[in-house]
Amino acid sequence: MKFVIENFGCQMNDHDMGKMGSVLIDHGHLPGSIEDADVVIVNTCCIREKAEQKFYSLMGRLQLLRRKKGLILGVTGCIAEQEKEGIFERLPFIDFSLGPSNIHRVAEAVENAAARTRTSAFGDNGLSLSLMIRPHNTRRGIKGYLTIMKGCNNFCSYCVVPYVRGREESRRSDDVLAEVREMAARGIVDVTLLGQNVNSYNNGNDDLSFPELLREIDAIPGISRLRFVTSHPKDISQELIECFGTLNTLCESIHLPFQSGSDRILALMNRGYTAAEYLGKVEALKKQCPAIAITADCIVGFPGEEDGDFEA
Ligand code: SF4
Repeated sequence: MKFVIENFGCQMNDHDMGKMGSVLIDHGHLPGSIEDADVVIVNTCCIREKAEQKFYSLMGRLQLLRRKKGLILGVTGCIAEQEKEGIFERLPFIDFSLGPSNIHRVAEAVENAAARTRTSAFGDNGLSLSLMIRPHNTRRGIKGYLTIMKGCNNFCSYCVVPYVRGREESRRSDDVLAEVREMAARGIVDVTLLGQNVNSYNNGNDDLSFPELLREIDAIPGISRLRFVTSHPKDISQELIECFGTLNTLCESIHLPFQSGSDRILALMNRGYTAAEYLGKVEALKKQCPAIAITADCIVGFPGEEDGDFEA
């Protein structure tokens, strides 16, 4: 069958789309276009309101196409996880729904749909199967992404990620390094490591720490640029800061969301650091790497925020 995956959301979702495409190709399906597809899968995001609105509007159009052509329609990703079985009430015409930890079951879901059986799978499977899929090299170019961990244990009070992406889980470092070597052999020189909380990679595990992993990747011949997203300020260690001054391949940039400059609001957000601690890490990064570019996210108008918090 020919398939199309429509994607919304972050780089992790983009990467998950590549993984699902690879699983389907391994099961004999072929990539197609919306005009000739037998299967349309929509990989969703529930973090951005606009992406959610666009998703429901797209599903309205796909419902018409399904009536006309008898398409198989599947929903994957964060809205699938958030809504769970409830998505079949809102979108009764879809054939399957898989949360992000269950995308390895996409070929099975398509085959079930062809046999008129509905599939749904949510929650952590505990086996890291979705994390272990290595996407095929379907994109040309010198830049590649790889997911090294998923999930988040932080439970910031405004964020749905721990509920839809589950608890933190890291890939074994030997598996990550093998994939980077494969990428280098394919001509990829610019690698971005992905994770919801990427710098807490292997936190508490008996394996390489995040700075150790960066050092190992830095030594792989052929890789000339190394980046990672997204980092949590509380997990920026001195050892990681020193990597910016010592590793040739590590790009001089970091995305480090601070969210608020007010300690009161940071506590309400459950961010786990104070404004002074955040600024201390920024200073240490600049000292280690004066040219470093630091980008950030900031929430304005958090519930309870007053003028003094805004100006802090
Ligand atoms: S650390 Fe990031 S992903 Fe985790 S709960 Fe906070 S904002 Fe969400």
